[in-house]
This record gives sequence, structure tokens and C-alpha cells, in this order.
Amino acid sequence: MTLFLSSATPAKVNLFLKVTARRPDGFHELETLFYPVPEVCDTLTIELGTPGIKLSCNVPGVPLDEHNLVWRAAEMFASAAKITPEWNIHLEKRIPVAAGLGGGSSDAAAVLRLLNSHYNKLSFQELAKYAVKLGADVPFFLSPVPAVAYGIGDKLAPIPDKICKLPMVLINPLFPVSAKWAYTNLETERIGEAPGVMEKMLEALCRGDMESIAGLMHNDLEFALFKKFPLLGIIRDEMLKHSALHPMVSGSGSTVFSLCRTGRDADNLAAAMRKRFPEFPVFVVN
Ligand code: ATP
Repeated sequence: MTLFLSSATPAKVNLFLKVTARRPDGFHELETLFYPVPEVCDTLTIELGTPGIKLSCNVPGVPLDEHNLVWRAAEMFASAAKITPEWNIHLEKRIPVAAGLGGGSSDAAAVLRLLNSHYNKLSFQELAKYAVKLGADVPFFLSPVPAVAYGIGDKLAPIPDKICKLPMVLINPLFPVSAKWAYTNLETERIGEAPGVMEKMLEALCRGDMESIAGLMHNDLEFALFKKFPLLGIIRDEMLKHSALHPMVSGSGSTVFSLCRTGRDADNLAAAMRKRFPEFPVFVVN
């Protein structure tokens, strides 16, 4: 009988992203707040039994070889766990690609999680060690709960208190942004710490105080993106006309998202955005 392993792979937004330092090796140190968005997800299915690693995907243009993080995660797991791979992997993508929503990282983490839950070869710590080799955001997706991240985004402090569900709307303008471009074009004068802001943000999240959360949201990477891609500003302005609280770019873009006061506000905002930008994917969390 053929065995299938399957998992939904959630997207994320960064409610806060401060670049605190540029390292000599070119990487950036961050203080960021990852918030998982399971309402926007891919589905990953691994069929066991066919020799080798094969990958298929519903979206044309997504690489199906070692350029795909899924493929690299599978190969890394095989070598770390000393297993001969026999995995036929299908990726059903709904998370827009190169969109600042962490799609590839989430898919890669799902491969590590699913294979390890089946073969039970590595500890969680070992899995995390391999995850960061695939990408700075991958460790977060091994256990995707709201978390503050430091280092290059890989040192995680899960937020201990149960925080409220945040109504929000996400809209993707259907053009990709490479994370490399966003970091290369970050203005040097923005780099630095923001003492005390994360503490205030965590307090506001615990109170469920949407206005304060929105007031504290920040993304160092978005300024260069708004300059380079005027469409992002048009989307932001349109969201503001429909009671969006603080439209902002997620991660390195190109997705713009905004918190809303209530689920009903989020539904109304999503409807307005679908009407104004019928060609763009709009996601609602209510
Ligand atoms: P992040 O928010 O972590 O910076 P992102 O959401 O902006 O990432 P991804 O969707 O992960 O970006 O894709 C970035 C690049 O990686 C794309 O150019 C794509 O070709 C490649 N890629 C590799 N693996 C995947 C995957 N599983 N899904 C989508 N893109 C992938």
C-alpha cells in the first residue's frame, strides 16, 4: 500500500522588522516578529516508495530541482538521517512566490517535519540546525507560532502568552521581489536598534489592542520598496480609504498587508480591494 505524508504549510507576515546591524559576511542582524498566517498556505504531499527525490508543482516557473527549497530540504534530510530517499513530492502552491510571505521556507520546514515524523531520526534541535542551513526563516516554520526572532532571524523566542487573533487583509501585486534586492537597497541610516519597541508590541498583542499594535508596526525594508515600486503605494493608499489600520509590506515584499479593527472590517476591506484590483490575490484573516 502506498504511504502518503501530507501537511499544510502556512505563510507568515512580519509585524515588526528592524535591521539592527549589517554583518561583515553580508548577512543582516534582525529583530523581527513573525506571525503565522495559516489561512494562506501551500499543501505539501510526499508519496513514499519511488526511488530518488522527485518534485512536481501546480505553479509553472517554480523550480523543480535543487533550486527549490523543498528538494534541498529532502536531500539534506536524507543525508543527515542516512536514509536512501524514495520520495515523490507534490507541492500545491497558493502562497504567492517571492512575496515576503515565507512560502519556500515554510515548504522546506514542512519537508523536514514530515520526514522526521515518519522516520524519527533527528531531535528537534538537530532539525533546527539543518533548517537554518536552508534559510534564515526556515527554523521559525518548524514550529510556526508567533515568535520574536533575532540573529539573522533564526534565534527564536516564541511569544509565551496566548495572543489574540489578528484580523487582517493581504494583497499581492503579482510581481516578485527578491529578498537580496530588498536588503541590498536598504538605506544604511535605517540600520540600528529600536530599544523598547518590541516590549511595547508584545504588551499590545497581549491586550489585543489593535490600534496600539498597528501604531508599533514597522518594516525597515519597505521604504526602498515603496520608492522602487509605486504600485505598492497605490495599494497602501487604497487600503487606507477602507479603514485599514496600518498597511505595510511583509518582509522583503511584494505583499502588502494591513491589520483591521474587526473581522467584519477585514471582510469589507478585502471586498474593496478585490473590486479595485480584481487581478491580484487578496487573502482575508477574520
Ligand atoms: P521570504 O519571505 O522567506 O524572504 P519569499 O516568500 O519572499 O521568502 P519565496 O516564495 O520563498 O520567497 O521564493 C523566493 C525564491 O525562491 C523564488 O524565486 C523561487 O523561485 C525560489 N523557491 C525555492 N523554493 C521554493 C518554493 N518551495 N516555493 C516557492 N519558491 C521557491
